[in-house]
Amino acid sequence: MRNSYLNSADCINAIDRIDVSKLTFEDVRVHYGTGRSYTVQGNYEKKYFYRNGKKTNIGDIEESVWRDIVRQMISIHSEDELFQNLSAWYSETGGVFRTKSEQELYILELHAVRIFDDPGWCDYIRFNQRYRPDMIDEGRLVTVWMDCCQKEGLTTKELYEKRYGELLPCPHCGRYSTFHIVE
Ligand SMILES: [Zn+2]
Repeated sequence: MRNSYLNSADCINAIDRIDVSKLTFEDVRVHYGTGRSYTVQGNYEKKYFYRNGKKTNIGDIEESVWRDIVRQMISIHSEDELFQNLSAWYSETGGVFRTKSEQELYILELHAVRIFDDPGWCDYIRFNQRYRPDMIDEGRLVTVWMDCCQKEGLTTKELYEKRYGELLPCPHCGRYSTFHIVE
């Protein structure tokens, strides 16, 4: 790959060309990661580089630039606490990451897709009951009896519709368990 790849119109390699205040999270949500090696011919030798990117609606953004953009957006939208809560949630529920940096990248991606607003997220009820009870969409709720904890709890229509092998994530303990709907 020639270094011209790095200058193609689709590639964003610096934050200074971006007006972060005008972006929406939809603009920067990650469709997939990109990774490309390329060489640059110097006077005496070829140099080899590797570029990690994030494919988004606004282009293929170099990974560290993408991180900076999303960090700035979280700050601009006063969502620092929400981001911290999401990080804490994944640490607590057993997310395994090799490094702090890898963990941050993963949580930034989840934040950008607004996972906390998705009634189909397995932890939608538990996370929002703890951190954002006012944000739970009550029109999506279904009452179920969970066999694991032997008690009633709330799930969402989305989770019920995509139940895997007739199992639902328990709103109390988080395990996937058999259940029945409470009329
Ligand atoms: Zn349970």
